Amino acid sequence: MKIIDLLTQEKLSLSFEVFPPKTETNFESVKNATEEIAKLRPAFMSVTYGAGGGTSKYTLDIAKNIKEMYDVPTLAHLTCVSSSKEMVQQKIEEIKAAGIQNVMALRGDIPAGMEDADRSHWDYQYAIDLIRELKASDVDFCIGGACYPEVHPESVHQKDDIKRLKEKVDAGCDFLTTQMFFDNNLFYNFLYKIREAGITVPVIPGIMPITNANQIERALKLSGSFMPQRFKSIADKFGSDSAAMKQAGIAYATDQIIDLYANDIYNVHVYSMNKPEVAEKIQSNLSDIIGK
Ligand code: FAD
Repeated sequence: MKIIDLLTQEKLSLSFEVFPPKTETNFESVKNATEEIAKLRPAFMSVTYGAGGGTSKYTLDIAKNIKEMYDVPTLAHLTCVSSSKEMVQQKIEEIKAAGIQNVMALRGDIPAGMEDADRSHWDYQYAIDLIRELKASDVDFCIGGACYPEVHPESVHQKDDIKRLKEKVDAGCDFLTTQMFFDNNLFYNFLYKIREAGITVPVIPGIMPITNANQIERALKLSGSFMPQRFKSIADKFGSDSAAMKQAGIAYATDQIIDLYANDIYNVHVYSMNKPEVAEKIQSNLSDIIGK
């Protein structure tokens, strides 16, 4: 099932993101967690891919298992930045062999220490290079791309970032998923600007339920997201009480999703991070709205 065909209903639907195990040792526990999430019957599940090779090995094993055992459509992430053409071709063959039709085509982060290096000789500079490669394959993949309501950290101006995004979409993105954000107005603003720029594909907002205080720093470092005062107050109040922080973080994410739906955004991607209890709680908070 292609994800693009799931984005047409005017009814709230959730998708969940999981990440593969780093090593064989924790394969079973990650597989079990992803299966628990699959049992919630989300619209689809996405499985991340480690840019530096660290967690790349099991992406397809996890995605294939969810699809085959639970009939939940899966989106396999793939990054290209530090890969050779041969490596990427091999991965595309593996995705085909796994019967996965949906690929999230990403550049990946520049490996630490290489930020200022001359990268002109690399086989892949940007996600658009990978998208072109996927489009040239003999499989009609449904291709997703990443976008950044608060601007990608390497872009100086949002205008440039949106111009690059338009080129990426024109190269063959069927839909976009956003980086996490904690203030929905940033998303609405971004949506307005990209529509003005002529980007018409569906955009799925990505919502990250922050369930512990340590996650806040990591999330901010990763995404450079703006933290509204309302969220800061929650973190200050509950940060040292793990159960309370989890409950408050889930409530905050639920609230964001309700506001998105109230503004006619029907598909929301939840960065559920291999936490079935978080995915389950968000879904049950919205049960009457989703109808599940
Ligand atoms: P690009 O679209 O290539 O953009 C990167 C930067 O380059 C932007 O600033 C853009 O404006 C600029 N740019 C683009 N084209 C050009 C050009 N032709 N000339 C000059 N500048 C240009 N990382 C992982 O390692 N694994 C994952 O599974 C993963 N999943 C993700 C899922 C989502 C939804 C998101 C939002 C991010 C994810 N990431 C993942 C992180 C992502 O790899 C990083 O944010 C990375 O730095 C950029 O990837 P991109 O595909 O957005 O890059």
